[in-house]
Amino acid sequence: MNNKNYKFTIPSLPFAYNSLNPYINEETLKFHHDKHFQTYVDNLNKALENYPEFQCWSLKKLVCDYSKLPDNIKNTVRNNAGGVYNHYLYFNLMTPNSIIKPIGSVAKAIDKKFASYGEFKKEMKNVALNTFGSGWTWLVVNKDGDLEIISTQNQDTPFTLNLYPILLVDVWEHAYYLQYQNRRADYLDNWFNVIDWNKVEEIFNMF
Ligand code: MN
Repeated sequence: MNNKNYKFTIPSLPFAYNSLNPYINEETLKFHHDKHFQTYVDNLNKALENYPEFQCWSLKKLVCDYSKLPDNIKNTVRNNAGGVYNHYLYFNLMTPNSIIKPIGSVAKAIDKKFASYGEFKKEMKNVALNTFGSGWTWLVVNKDGDLEIISTQNQDTPFTLNLYPILLVDVWEHAYYLQYQNRRADYLDNWFNVIDWNKVEEIFNMF
């Protein structure tokens, strides 16, 4: 994020609200980015308001080390720093100019782990569909450098499991309900068309 420390602010959506049509519509993006994402930012700032000693912590440190915070803000920070981190990454890894399929090293790693891009999609969708309640489904790199697909509940991140995210999809209902109602599978099928594989490749190459 451009603002790494307190006070956190919401970055603007990196593309026009109507530019992911028909896959994710304008109304969904407006509510999701401007209302839901904003609320996590506001709640995180509020939680740290009276704790100046933790205002120098980066967003990443808050996400990874929330358990070291005082008991009365620990869970609020866990949920809201996670919410800020996850939404920032989610919106950043979508693009109206998706090249649709992975490239480079991440394409090779996907083929190695899942046999093909098609099989990867099936697996990612399946894990996302089976995430009960609210959460996120992730493509992560483990400590051996291999890929895994996992889900986390609420706004938890893979960092606390020693897994590093390279791609994520929001499976909270607020991510799709306005356009797809209860049809999470349709939302997921469409989300695959807006993944920014160039950025996923960039992140993957950092490991
Ligand atoms: Mn969301």
